[in-house]
Amino acid sequence: MKKDFAVIGLGRFGGSICRELSREGMEVLALDLDEDKVNEYRDIASHAVIADSTDESVLKELGFRNIDHVIVAIGDNIQASMLTTLILKEMGLKMITVKAQNDYHEKILNKIGADQVVHPERDMGKRIAHNIISNNILDYIELSDDHSVVEVKAGDKMGGRTLVDLDIRAEYGCNVVAIKRDRDVIVSPMATEEIKESDVLIVIGADKDISRFEKNLV
Ligand code: ADP
Repeated sequence: MKKDFAVIGLGRFGGSICRELSREGMEVLALDLDEDKVNEYRDIASHAVIADSTDESVLKELGFRNIDHVIVAIGDNIQASMLTTLILKEMGLKMITVKAQNDYHEKILNKIGADQVVHPERDMGKRIAHNIISNNILDYIELSDDHSVVEVKAGDKMGGRTLVDLDIRAEYGCNVVAIKRDRDVIVSPMATEEIKESDVLIVIGADKDISRFEKNLV
């Protein structure tokens, strides 16, 4: 089903979201204070408007009430980001995603009632750091403050051995929830499954356990 989106703040992050949603054929209302930014998105978004999102009457006039999902991507101006979120929340918007600039900002956004708070620079930094530790770590997704999912290439340390052999659960407290093999995905693999070097394992666990698993097996 087609959804209506609005992106507030067309910096690098908001701009990239706006482009991708539009490329996927979504209706996107793009909004920024800056005329040049708005002009840049005139041919990309369904609508592009110059406006100040901290002005409640403007958001009402633009029909924000009927938008399914709003992304607040105001960067440095934390006060404007918080005020915008608060206004959208009071207007009763169903889904509000906000980019947080730091932990303090994130805490307040959660208190105000943002449905989703994202921290792109911090998260991307973590992903890249894990990839730098080992080229075999393909991706790293944070589930909570202390749990994550990693996607790792099996490589020669795990290739040719079964999950029982490796004893990942008992030894490291992590679970292999799936194995990607060529085009197939083996969900909840059996303990007797023999891993191939080229397999990609999806592993879930507490950060401290994942860290030991990475050090020893990846
Ligand atoms: P990024 O780090 O993603 O590049 P920026 O801080 O560069 O983010 O961009 C944020 C954008 O948000 C800017 O284009 C700025 O003009 C816009 N912006 C800031 N305050 C408001 C506001 N009150 N209403 C609308 N847009 C705003």
